[in-house]
Amino acid sequence: MNTYPLLIDGKLIEIDARLDVVNPATGAAFTTCAVADADLMDRAITAAKAAFPAWSSKSWEDRGAPLAVLADRLDVAREDFAQLLTQEQGKPIADARGEVGLVVDFLHYYSTARIAPKTVTDTAERHVSVHRKPLGVIAAICPWNFPLLIAAYKLAPAVVTGNTCVVKPAATTPLTTLWLGKLAADLFPAGVVNVVTDRNDLGAQLSSHPDVAKVTFTGSTATGKRVMQAASNTLKRITLELGGNDAAILLDDETTDDVAQSVFDAAFNLSGQVCTAIKKVYAPRNDYDALCDKLAAIATSVKIGNGQDEDTKIGPIQNPMQIEKVQGFLDIAKRDGKIIAGGEVLASQGYFIQPTIVRDIDENSDLVKEEQFGPVLPVLPYDTLDDVIQTVNDSEYGLGNSVWSADVERAAEVGLKLNSGSVWINRHGYIDPATPFAGAKQSGIGIEMGDEGLKEFTQMQLLVIEKT
Ligand code: NAD
Repeated sequence: MNTYPLLIDGKLIEIDARLDVVNPATGAAFTTCAVADADLMDRAITAAKAAFPAWSSKSWEDRGAPLAVLADRLDVAREDFAQLLTQEQGKPIADARGEVGLVVDFLHYYSTARIAPKTVTDTAERHVSVHRKPLGVIAAICPWNFPLLIAAYKLAPAVVTGNTCVVKPAATTPLTTLWLGKLAADLFPAGVVNVVTDRNDLGAQLSSHPDVAKVTFTGSTATGKRVMQAASNTLKRITLELGGNDAAILLDDETTDDVAQSVFDAAFNLSGQVCTAIKKVYAPRNDYDALCDKLAAIATSVKIGNGQDEDTKIGPIQNPMQIEKVQGFLDIAKRDGKIIAGGEVLASQGYFIQPTIVRDIDENSDLVKEEQFGPVLPVLPYDTLDDVIQTVNDSEYGLGNSVWSADVERAAEVGLKLNSGSVWINRHGYIDPATPFAGAKQSGIGIEMGDEGLKEFTQMQLLVIEKT
């Protein structure tokens, strides 16, 4: 049987304190893992601090090499990781395989990532250059929707830039992160990589600890605000990737069945539990009825079930707290709109909610304004493009938005008027380690991935040399 120890100061630690890990498709615990307390978390931070001077003075090559080996080890165990990910998270197995595959690619990418010094002035009098230095201990705090991918794309850029790190998975999805730690244990000097679980009670310790130099956090906007507050005591660097309320805007030349299917897929992927899922759809008033009917038809025919079944398209909601939250949005949908597909929490042992399409709902309903993070999609009509742009820009969120049209130039013109970190044309969502990703407004602070994201794990240092 596999075991899931903590990784602290280079040691794999099994302890009596256990966390039950529940399969959301059955509602039953299927294994346990070690769970840390505040003392163990402190030990991890201390170990990371002690490891920093030696690790940060190594070359980029030496720091990147273990990441390539980690990628290879994960590649060998790909299918087992995917099965475990589906068990702990609930996602359909095809999506879990996709996530593990991305992690292999990301680890390879970061194994060769570099930031070169930049000369800004070179004259007879002086040489001015910009350098990048690691920060120290990075706290990587992760959510439960893409547990392995998000842990990896925080850990890898942290260590390749010369930092050490403490990675904390969400309490309901600790296993694949702990297993990644197990694969990494003998690859890095003691203390460089630490993986510490909690009962959703140690995040604040990380974000307020004076020996943590930066917090890279992915999670809800509410918790992100707490992280920002806690980090202020020592002016820690922060990167916050938070919630979204992404809109898909269909233009008047785009009403095909294919678009309805693509919009549905991007809204209901992972049962809507994706930061960049489509959270509301806008269609021209003339096309509104047809689009609602198409989305409802897809929603009623899609296969819901245990993610371990190969033909499942929609898996469970990840945890009971989230079921409760989405149940609240179903109640709002019943009160404020008209449900034309789904609408119920399934009476089964797992945590399932029918894919739900809601029409004739007011723009000011909380289902439209808030992040539902579940399979309940409001569809709204619009009269003019100016109206819909204004409405979408009124949101306090600004993660991403998409515009769908046969005329991509027209769509891009509309897209560039939207105030969000990303705008996608004829797709919704895009992830690639070389491409920066950021949220506008209350969807986040800072950048992940791309050269811009890599720099966020460093402090800029200016070097000015007078030659005369
Ligand atoms: P959450 O905010 O409840 O928890 C995220 C992490 O923060 C967990 O590891 C949790 O233990 C930890 N935490 C809890 N309290 C803390 C505190 N006071 N200080 C520090 N850490 C603390 O989020 P969740 O429910 O796990 O994830 C869902 C949310 O994440 C959604 O809002 C979603 O949009 C967002 N999300 C955003 C992105 C993105 O890139 N923008 C990606 C994935 C998820």
